[in-house]
Amino acid sequence: MANIDYKVIVGLEIHVHLRTRTKMFCGCELSFGDTANSHVCPVCIGMPGSLPVMNKTAVEYAVLVGMALNCEISKFTKWDRKSYYYPDLPKNYQISQYDLPISRNGYIEIPLEDGAIKKIRIRRAHLEEDAGKNLHTGSISRIDLNRAGTPLLEIVTEPDMNSPAEVRALAIELQRIVRFLGVSEADMQKGHMRFEPNINLHITKAGKIFKTPITEIKNLNSFRSVERSVAYEVQRQLDEFIDTGKTMEMGNKRTFGWDDQRQATYLQREKEEAHDYRYFPDPDLVPVVFDDAMLAKIRGRMCELPLQMQQRFVADYGLSEYDAGVLTADRKTAEYFDSVVKAGADAKRTCNLLTQTGLKIANDKGVAVAELGIETERLAELVKMAQSDEISATAAATIFVEMTQNTEPPRIIAEKMNLLQKSDAGELEAIVEQVIAENPQAVEEIKTGGKKIGKSQAFLTGQVMQKTKGRANPKVVTQILTKLLTR
Ligand code: ZN
Ligand code: MN
Repeated sequence: MANIDYKVIVGLEIHVHLRTRTKMFCGCELSFGDTANSHVCPVCIGMPGSLPVMNKTAVEYAVLVGMALNCEISKFTKWDRKSYYYPDLPKNYQISQYDLPISRNGYIEIPLEDGAIKKIRIRRAHLEEDAGKNLHTGSISRIDLNRAGTPLLEIVTEPDMNSPAEVRALAIELQRIVRFLGVSEADMQKGHMRFEPNINLHITKAGKIFKTPITEIKNLNSFRSVERSVAYEVQRQLDEFIDTGKTMEMGNKRTFGWDDQRQATYLQREKEEAHDYRYFPDPDLVPVVFDDAMLAKIRGRMCELPLQMQQRFVADYGLSEYDAGVLTADRKTAEYFDSVVKAGADAKRTCNLLTQTGLKIANDKGVAVAELGIETERLAELVKMAQSDEISATAAATIFVEMTQNTEPPRIIAEKMNLLQKSDAGELEAIVEQVIAENPQAVEEIKTGGKKIGKSQAFLTGQVMQKTKGRANPKVVTQILTKLLTR
């Protein structure tokens, strides 16, 4: 059994909170961390006789995500009641979409570790409402319904992922997409994204394929737990198959939880079937009907997606995958960078300034690089000054820092801070002459072509830099030195 041949099969269900102002079917504001049950009303606490009203923005956001995921958008959708009894859902049903999801049959492209792109098919994406939260302290359980009724987009992929790393890559890519679209903060700490992988193995033994029973892991809320729990389940299923030989045909689908402390999954329950939920159309809500004009209007809000932007930065601007990935982690930063380069700045220099100097200040201030207060035109000016050797790369970083609190043009700042490089050959030549006169030994070394020629040249250049307080253009100094020492 040492060399068992198997393939990992994973599909993913993702719940994303949409960033609307109010809840899905009532006017209560979305909140986080507020006093328990301070954002509730008869609708979201399920009082008899209260009537839901659909949030139009949530539906538009859901359509936009569907479009970004290359889905077919349904022109007619409706709302269904999914029955279940839990204290955090006082209506005893969740409003969801059963047989007519807002979008279906799409795909998402994810970047793999080796730089390749993989397409993962999207089965469907539908809108529903979130439940409240149970809070357990000691023997007391309490319920906070502030979250009940928050718009949730449930996205279901086909089982196209074949490793824990691919599942993680999809989770990260989806977070980038919904953030770029501005439809979700997708803050993992706040539970804005929750993942539920479905996992099994196709094991090849004696020329036959055995499929292990599918397990679903519930409610994962970090990229790390997604990746680790899938890896754990792969090993657990493999061990179970070796022990019992159990296959899909013999066992039900089971639901597992993830214990972060133990870094292990644990059995929760045997999976419900759809008929357990007794879905039926919600009689309180009218169906949603789109016409072409409405869909075109929503499509008008589409932006360039993060992966496309990343690929463009690599192809057109010559950035590394890594640099392009860092810049496109955040839409504002990506667009800011793009505008600076389009204003004529060198891409690599701009990237270095933003990812080295800029991100550090931005992180300290808790803002995006684009929000540091430097206009794109001004930053382009700064980069161009470095390109033309008016200032050194170090000086550019110094001026960048100053520009976050000083709106003057970079050239003025450079003058005031004495950072402009001396490139005037006439002025520099006098200084180089002086250095040559003062250091006959080094000059002799160079003229006779001794072993220390490189060192001596660097020494003389260093002397010139010292006399000019670091402001001499090193290229010009080298030219003059060569000229004067070979005459
Ligand atoms: Zn409400
Ligand atoms: Mn759901």
